Amino acid sequence: MNIILLGPPGAGKGTQAKNISARYNLVHISTGDILRCAVVNKTALGVRAKSYMEAGELVPDDVVVDLVRERVADLDCKSGFLLDGFPRTVAQAVELDAILKANETEVDFVLNIEVSQDEIVKRLTSRRVCGDCNRTYNLLFEPPRDEDKCNECGTALYRRDDDSEETILNRMKVYYQQTAPLIAYYQRSGKLKNIDGGHAIDEVFADIEEAVCACQN
Ligand code: ADP
Ligand code: ADP
Ligand code: ZN
Repeated sequence: MNIILLGPPGAGKGTQAKNISARYNLVHISTGDILRCAVVNKTALGVRAKSYMEAGELVPDDVVVDLVRERVADLDCKSGFLLDGFPRTVAQAVELDAILKANETEVDFVLNIEVSQDEIVKRLTSRRVCGDCNRTYNLLFEPPRDEDKCNECGTALYRRDDDSEETILNRMKVYYQQTAPLIAYYQRSGKLKNIDGGHAIDEVFADIEEAVCACQN
């Protein structure tokens, strides 16, 4: 089973991806996590991506498409993967279809997590991320047990550079202009499932499980 998670920044894609990949045994592929890791390690990919990410702009399509092409061809993806944060443009979605076809597989369905703009700003300004395992927390909605430390690995939490109010507004603009058209793209293929992301984390996950169950039948 191959799933795409779609939704604006802060919708809860990363949070739900952890639940979904554990529940259905899928490889979690987050282009944002891969790019942030590349930036920290100052690899060629990271050097290329850094300024776009800091400004809340999308990294060029060819860069992320190459990255995903390599990752989904890995052996561990054969039994199913969950794409989180990719595709983000119609051009990326078209490329993805071709990549998957070449790997003799396809997207089974797309979970589109919907949340209001007010909720997005509230969630992102209070988001904290583990510097080691990438687990996400929220000072308002999902605080760590120990202030500023990851529950799972004890590493210090940090605030993403692009989670400043100004950059959040630009990311939302970029989302509505460049990513939201994907909703119609996947609706046309009959693969889209809308999920109300405005509820508590476990309620949203329960709705996702229900949608996945309906898709499997
Ligand atoms: P995305 O990957 O879509 O940007 P995240 O999963 O990182 O979103 O979630 C954004 C922030 O909101 C995080 O701090 C996370 O802990 C919090 N969050 C996620 N889902 C919910 C929810 N249903 N209710 C409240 N806060 C949430
Ligand atoms: P969020 O959790 O807020 O939705 P991500 O962690 O998915 O954000 O992405 C962070 C940044 O990484 C984006 O603002 C963008 O600069 C870059 N990025 C991630 N995925 C893609 C993609 N598929 N295409 C282009 N840029 C991407
Ligand atoms: Zn951690």
